[in-house]
Amino acid sequence: MQFTFHNPTQIQFGRGQIASVARLIPRDAKVLVLYGGGSIKANGVYDQVAEALKAHQWAEFAGIEPNPTVETLDKAVARVKDEGFDFLLAVGGGSVVDGTKYVAAAACYEGYGWDILSGKHKVRQALPLGAILTLPATGSESNAAAVISRTATAEKRSFLAPAVFPVFAVLDPDTMSSLPDRQLANGLVDAFVHICEQYLTVPTGAMVQDGFAEALLRNLVVLAGQFDQRRTLEWRENLMWTANQALNGLIGVGVPHDWATHAIGHEFTALYGLDHAQTLALVHPALLRVCLAQKEAKLTQMGRNVFGLEGDGIANRTIDIIENLFRSVGVGTRLGDYQLDKNDVLLQVLTALEGHGMTRLGHQRDVDLHTVDAIIRKAE
Ligand code: NAP
Ligand code: FE
Repeated sequence: MQFTFHNPTQIQFGRGQIASVARLIPRDAKVLVLYGGGSIKANGVYDQVAEALKAHQWAEFAGIEPNPTVETLDKAVARVKDEGFDFLLAVGGGSVVDGTKYVAAAACYEGYGWDILSGKHKVRQALPLGAILTLPATGSESNAAAVISRTATAEKRSFLAPAVFPVFAVLDPDTMSSLPDRQLANGLVDAFVHICEQYLTVPTGAMVQDGFAEALLRNLVVLAGQFDQRRTLEWRENLMWTANQALNGLIGVGVPHDWATHAIGHEFTALYGLDHAQTLALVHPALLRVCLAQKEAKLTQMGRNVFGLEGDGIANRTIDIIENLFRSVGVGTRLGDYQLDKNDVLLQVLTALEGHGMTRLGHQRDVDLHTVDAIIRKAE
């Protein structure tokens, strides 16, 4: 094993922590606050941000949509370039945080911003940004990744750049009080699959990564079982911290990663508009069934250490339990749950993956278009 682990994001966790941005953002910075469709206005988070920034010079950019688009974000990039902001503050869920990362990077690039997603431009420089998280799910608040969509071409792509690690992330579980059940369930599923994408590969003997991943998975199993307690502070705190730790880099250092479920899922969002977590619930159990041979050892380890299974056929039983867990919080796992037609999905998703050059996915790069075909059929 050989790795560098460096996560520079300062975490401000707990009730009342939004006020701390007053001292975390340099007093002389000209700040642009970016947010989504208005949930922060309805739940009082916007007012807390305004109060915290009362001694700063700041303006706002509203309207970053779920699955943020380059078309919307480029308007923010133009404002940053024209008006000379020097600190970006994202207030919202993963879409707002991801979108703000793109703005931070594109504002320091003279070319066309989509070059960052197509891989033509490698991001080395970005404006500093902070995040106030209102939806625990993606881990984006303290990682270096962002996923951006392009409406014109129905694409959804990601980029990874240390320059876009947020300087700080505020995780106040009270911001979750206005979240609809659908988003709470989405967050739980997204975090669960993030862990699986870094854990369900091959045995590595990495005790810290495996042990920590298993602890986080067990948390999510408990939280799913306690979904009726989702309005309590303790439930919210535990989901918020678990989802953050699931994708802040630690469990993924020095071990193989998969990410095939995310890559296939992104096509479903781009083509059919499904929520990110819905796509994962749809693809992941089917992928595990199709790729059982490659993942059997790790699925067996997960079955034993996370679900307490014993005896024969643990890997298959583990997949069934994962699928039931997603369904238990109301996230559909089959094409029919989303009124999707198998033949249409086969045509559209396979064509899109091929068009995007995504034909060798997974930790062994063996999830080719034939495998994706089988995964889609399994999800029927
Ligand atoms: P989201 O798209 O940010 O938000 C979904 C919805 O929840 C929005 O309508 C939003 O409304 C609402 N919402 C957020 N906070 C709320 C609150 N406290 N109360 C009420 N409503 C609230 O959801 P997300 O799951 O966090 O992010 C999904 C995106 O992240 C996808 O594009 C996915 O591909 C990406 N992703 C990124 C990473 C990464 O590492 N960077 C990892 C996984 C996924 P408003 O617009 O009004 O705020
Ligand atoms: Fe995700």
